[in-house]
Amino acid sequence: MWYIISNMSVDISKFSTMKVGGSVTDIRKIKDKASLLQSIESSARLRVPFFVLGEGSNTIFRDIEHSLIVLKMENAGISIEKSDRKNTLVRVGAGERWDNFVKWSVENNFSGIEALSGIPGTVGASPIQNIGAYGSEVKNTIALIEAYDTTVDEFVNIPRERCGFEYRNSVFKKNPGRFIPPPSRVPRGKVGGFIIWSVYFNLCRNSVPVIPKYKDIIEYFEEKNISAPNLNQIRETVLEIRARKLPDPSVIPSCGSFFKNPILTNEAADNLKFKYPEMPVFPVSRDRSKISAGWLIEKAGLKGYAENNIGVYEHNALVLINRGGGSFEDLDNLRNRIKEKILSAFGIMLEEEVNIV
Ligand code: NAP
Repeated sequence: MWYIISNMSVDISKFSTMKVGGSVTDIRKIKDKASLLQSIESSARLRVPFFVLGEGSNTIFRDIEHSLIVLKMENAGISIEKSDRKNTLVRVGAGERWDNFVKWSVENNFSGIEALSGIPGTVGASPIQNIGAYGSEVKNTIALIEAYDTTVDEFVNIPRERCGFEYRNSVFKKNPGRFIPPPSRVPRGKVGGFIIWSVYFNLCRNSVPVIPKYKDIIEYFEEKNISAPNLNQIRETVLEIRARKLPDPSVIPSCGSFFKNPILTNEAADNLKFKYPEMPVFPVSRDRSKISAGWLIEKAGLKGYAENNIGVYEHNALVLINRGGGSFEDLDNLRNRIKEKILSAFGIMLEEEVNIV
């Protein structure tokens, strides 16, 4: 049984890029291993579970008083661990901004993550939902994850094969131990959770950059008549295209893509395609296909639709935005309205990509 014996309370809405949410017991900025261990220890002493947060770009808090100590990961830093003619192993602190790392890799002519330019959030959050864009997924470059394992109360190394990476998913996301009780409170035989401390990436040296096979990018390079772009041109193109379609969270609060793209059996996708021949369908395996959640929302007439101060972004129906002063309740109403409408129109239940606490 958890209870608060502290009277502290901090407004959490400022720490989520959606800018909604109530309060939490406390927020601790974690810059090194000592501050992490101290915070875990004080969470045990106060008997308040802790919750790990990066930049809050994929996490939305409800409008309640959360009995939680938020550990805000701010341990940054990029170092080259090993290098040969073809590959470089790089270690990055969980609190490093993801896009700082992409910029650094492009400047150093290391390839592998350039298509993931401009994604908000921290490096430590990147494996959790196996971030992806333009056909690239972070799992393709991750070699190893160093994490604090609250079950055994020590730092452990988790090789990529044990991370259970799937489309926008991983063992860390599936693990229900997200509200991590302090180690002494983990019941015997139960799994606690992992606090990702640093991520090791295998980047390529001296390889020829590949143009992502997504329509927007291909068209951009065709228009500019560039057939063999360098890494920096790919990064700049991705940044420019993203800026057209996505709100800058520091100007218009949002959490990027709100829903996952549904993955259907080929039969279900074919049935929909028969009804809506213009609907884009992308094969993901021999028997499964991906369809675009944004396309479904737009087709249902909800692009630009708003309820109170939360709305569907007018340039991208997959993004929900806070138009100023919106609450979690408004967001909850809108996401339910969207899910009901998509279910009744297409028979598909959308799932949230964002993490709701
Ligand atoms: P888009 O190009 O308008 O395409 C709509 C959807 O169709 C995308 O979500 C994408 O799925 C899928 N798609 C398009 N072309 C594809 C292809 N050649 N092969 C396989 N799937 C294809 O998408 P967008 O909204 O401008 O986003 C562009 C990329 O940035 C996407 O990969 C998207 O996931 C990524 N992104 C991610 C976030 C986030 O918050 N996680 C936010 C914005 C954009 P996938 O999403 O599976 O690629």
